[in-house]
Amino acid sequence: MCNDLSTSFNRIIQGNKEWVDFVKNDSSGRFQQLAKGQHPEILWIGCADSRVPANEITGTKPGEVFVHRNIANVCVHSDMNMLSVLDYAVNVLKVKHIIVAGHYGCGGVAASLSSSQFGIIDNWLQHIKDVYRINANEIDAIEDQQLKTDRLVELNVQEQVSNLCRTSIVQNAWKNGQELAVHGMVINIGTGELIDQNCTFTNNNTLGNVFAYK
Ligand code: ZN
Repeated sequence: MCNDLSTSFNRIIQGNKEWVDFVKNDSSGRFQQLAKGQHPEILWIGCADSRVPANEITGTKPGEVFVHRNIANVCVHSDMNMLSVLDYAVNVLKVKHIIVAGHYGCGGVAASLSSSQFGIIDNWLQHIKDVYRINANEIDAIEDQQLKTDRLVELNVQEQVSNLCRTSIVQNAWKNGQELAVHGMVINIGTGELIDQNCTFTNNNTLGNVFAYK
């Protein structure tokens, strides 16, 4: 391994040794408990970006948040990975809250607002371009490119929340009387703030005709 490679890899190994020491010295018994199973009450669907780790941002510990991350926190109905996470979180873990967490300065959202090709990811970004298409009038009226991106980050979060609520998984949970809230939030990386987008759903009443299942 060349020097650069081994430096970053060794950091991970060293970091784990420190973690092992920390776990060994913890006398609360929580790690022994965690080894037996998990009972998180939150499902976090966030961006894969390295700057937005769910636990650190929310002050939660291992075992408290079930996490799914992909580029630009997209929730599409044909993504078996996301659907499997959602189904397990809702029907097995019985989480009480689902949080879709976008972040300002999202590279995926910024890329979706350009006409450049970036490779295979262009197909994934089409889902965000769809959010742009639905909101083109509002986005086009913003002159500053950064502000355009940040507004699309917010609109993308709202759209993905709506997508989650349209799934049979979430709607059946509500139908069965399960307590479940789906929230949209945006992280400001510079301040660390998690900003509620006030688009929380706790039932399918406002999803509209063809989207709300009977
Ligand atoms: Zn991102």
